[in-house]
Amino acid sequence: MSDSRPFDSVYRHDAHAAPMTRALIGEHRGDLVVVGAGYTGLSTALHAAERGLRVIVLEAHEPGFGAAGRNGGQVNPGLKHEPDDIEAHFGPELGGRLVAMAGDAPQFLFDLVQRLGLHCEARQTGTLRAAYRSESLAALDTQVAQWSRRGVTLERLDADGVARITGTGRYVGATLDRRGGSLNPLAYAQELARAAIAAGATVAGQSPAIALTSTGREWRVTSAQGQAIAPQVVIATDGYSDHIWPGLRRSFVPVYSSIAATVPLPEALRQRILASGEVVYESGHVTTYYRIDAVGRLLMGGRGVQRPVRSLMDHRHLTDYAARLWPELGHVAWPYAWNGQFALTPDFYPRLHEPAPGLLIALGYSGRGVALATRFGAALAAAVGGDGASALPLPITPIRPIPLHRFWRTGVYLGVAIGRLRDHMGL
Ligand SMILES: Cc1cc2nc3c(=O)[nH]c(=O)nc-3n(C[C@H](O)[C@H](O)[C@H](O)COP(=O)(O)OP(=O)(O)OC[C@H]3O[C@@H](n4cnc5c(N)ncnc54)[C@H](O)[C@@H]3O)c2cc1C
Repeated sequence: MSDSRPFDSVYRHDAHAAPMTRALIGEHRGDLVVVGAGYTGLSTALHAAERGLRVIVLEAHEPGFGAAGRNGGQVNPGLKHEPDDIEAHFGPELGGRLVAMAGDAPQFLFDLVQRLGLHCEARQTGTLRAAYRSESLAALDTQVAQWSRRGVTLERLDADGVARITGTGRYVGATLDRRGGSLNPLAYAQELARAAIAAGATVAGQSPAIALTSTGREWRVTSAQGQAIAPQVVIATDGYSDHIWPGLRRSFVPVYSSIAATVPLPEALRQRILASGEVVYESGHVTTYYRIDAVGRLLMGGRGVQRPVRSLMDHRHLTDYAARLWPELGHVAWPYAWNGQFALTPDFYPRLHEPAPGLLIALGYSGRGVALATRFGAALAAAVGGDGASALPLPITPIRPIPLHRFWRTGVYLGVAIGRLRDHMGL
């Protein structure tokens, strides 16, 4: 705990040993260079190394520095959109594949954790989508019906059913999707890095990629003290993307999400709140999400300041909301508060770009990347490992900078205000 920085995630306060990832020094050749060691980059590296590719990962800080090491740890199935909308958007063939892939992504992750013996507190205990307004119930019914037509059974809970699980009377109904669950997100990133290294990949920490040049046949990725050279590159920098590729940073909104965590709850409360380990996200335009972690802390996440956290007061709205859900929380302490950024796209769909031959970019999971980025990484590895673009779950699109991007903070605050108003009015 001693080397934690203020407002680091609770996961950094726990004593997980990080894998050894020295800076890249000198010139290194491989088959694939991956930029960014979050779930996208590490899953790509792991699966590519398992296919026999020589992989070099360059990470600006350490594995899990970005959203992978700070998120809510919810392993949720699906995308933000319902299956019918996805198929309407991408067409029945591609859309159908994407729906199946996003729905199966948690199972893919839990299988991976089991296959490789990753120590990350993973539990497939279900995702609850909970509605606190009767106007939202129709959306829950739609979700159940659409997945049911695809052979997936979600449980539809009434107010009493959801109260029994959550320990609060706030909700009028919920869906319970048993494909979902939770994990310790930083431990998962670190374990993925370890597994990638064990499979033969080089994972270099403290090695920001600062320039990317192509000779036509191969790419040269330059870091402070070294260079990685390979015919193929995957950029996996999501909400932490810098200026490594022109226009990329302006093609999404780098939204901050905030989380506060309690000390381990008293046993009586643990028996009442999500005793079986389900995770919750609220139905609505402004999402609050929460779960109980492996040692019994309540982690409460949602909207927040659009800058790094400076004080526990930045999270007051989250702790107040928790007190509203469970007044009996009383004076339980909230010693942890942090936030992090993820790439939100204008239509909430992830993006795959190939702005030059041999260069793939994947990002934009819009707050749902734990399972999805893991699954996308495996698809990227298949694509670069010989299966080509048919292995990819999305069409490759050009990078489209968002107009007036420099006002993104104002846009997020405005979006949250409008969302809250719509939630309040039941729209
Ligand atoms: C607070 C919070 C809560 C969230 N909760 C959930 C949740 O409960 N469930 C869920 O599914 N999703 C959640 N998300 C979203 C999820 O964490 C992300 O979608 C996911 O981590 C994206 O993974 P990634 O690997 O693409 O990017 P990241 O994990 O952000 O990794 C990107 C990496 O790239 C590195 N990088 C950037 N530029 C360079 C460079 N030039 N050179 C080298 N390295 C570079 C960064 O240092 C970083 O480590 C949450 C996000 C946040 C911020």
